[in-house]
Amino acid sequence: MKSSTVDVLIVGAGPAGLAAAIELKKNGVKNVRVVEREKIAGGVPRHSYHLGYGIRDLKRFISGPAYAKHYVDQALKTGVEISTSTTATDWVDLNTLSLTSPFGIEQVKAKAILLATGARERARSARAVAGKRAAGIYTTGSLQQATYLESLYIGKTAIIVGTEHVSLSAVITLKHAGVKTVAMITEKRKHQTVFGAPTLLRLIFGFKLHLDTKIVEIQADQRVSGAKVRSGNKEWVIKADTIVFTGDWIPDHELIRRANLPIDSSYKSPITDSDGLIPNTQIYSIGNLTLPIKGADKCAVEARKIARKIAKKIS
Ligand SMILES: Cc1cc2nc3c(=O)[nH]c(=O)nc-3n(C[C@H](O)[C@H](O)[C@H](O)COP(=O)(O)OP(=O)(O)OC[C@H]3O[C@@H](n4cnc5c(N)ncnc54)[C@H](O)[C@@H]3O)c2cc1C
Repeated sequence: MKSSTVDVLIVGAGPAGLAAAIELKKNGVKNVRVVEREKIAGGVPRHSYHLGYGIRDLKRFISGPAYAKHYVDQALKTGVEISTSTTATDWVDLNTLSLTSPFGIEQVKAKAILLATGARERARSARAVAGKRAAGIYTTGSLQQATYLESLYIGKTAIIVGTEHVSLSAVITLKHAGVKTVAMITEKRKHQTVFGAPTLLRLIFGFKLHLDTKIVEIQADQRVSGAKVRSGNKEWVIKADTIVFTGDWIPDHELIRRANLPIDSSYKSPITDSDGLIPNTQIYSIGNLTLPIKGADKCAVEARKIARKIAKKIS
């Protein structure tokens, strides 16, 4: 089995991981390696085609793919080693990670390990919604990948579950895929996005917004045909062939759990000090793993700050 040593090993090549890697190199750290399980580095912004990225960190207003490209290009320019199709699967000890890639298994030891594994939306299975498993069920993330990266057929009509910022991205992605949003529903009494945004989109795209409404069952055969929903004592069916579960984020904390490190009971993120350091380790948490969900620019700015402190410590 191959084994190697680097100064800093970063898991996850999203905005947080790449911004930290660049900053570490700029501050004199010699060997910085970023591992990314996807074939292409860049994280979530890679498949988030709308504008809205780069405001705080790059002082620009650009699309997700342009933003991801910026960070990947900068990382390569500053000499960061990026290994794609490489997953950090387990710990050998708290300074060494085991990696799996098409080249086999590898162990990498580092003076500091930064976990930048991000967060994901809770899928249907984690939300305990009754009904069959069927085609036509997505999260915003999987919808964006299927639409923008794989150009797959999505459907004709959709129900969006959730009313966060990301739910609005889902409406725009569905429109791009030629799918009409017929309803947006939330169990909450108020939406959680910018004032007026759902109303504006509702007027533009012509869907119904149902507050205080819960999805109780997905109706489906091979493919989704609708959803039974409930508000108070009233139950009814909304017809659609696609359902998108949006928001309701959970940090991608698998490696934290595998190391038996403490997890915050409400946010399900690792417990760290104010510098992102997990007490009694050389393991740091950055980006959305620390607290879902922040904008990519905020993740990048915070990651840079933490990286400067790490650089001072280890070089
Ligand atoms: C639909 C949508 C729209 C958004 N719109 C905006 C917007 O307009 N503006 C904005 O600022 N923000 C937006 N965001 C938020 C932004 O994309 C995230 O805040 C940002 O991507 C978080 O960066 P991150 O590096 O923490 O995590 P991510 O971007 O999630 O990157 C984490 C990376 O870690 C990798 N990884 C995970 N586990 C492992 C492992 N074990 N081994 C190797 N690699 C691993 C993943 O494959 C992933 O590439 C949006 C998010 C979504 C989902």
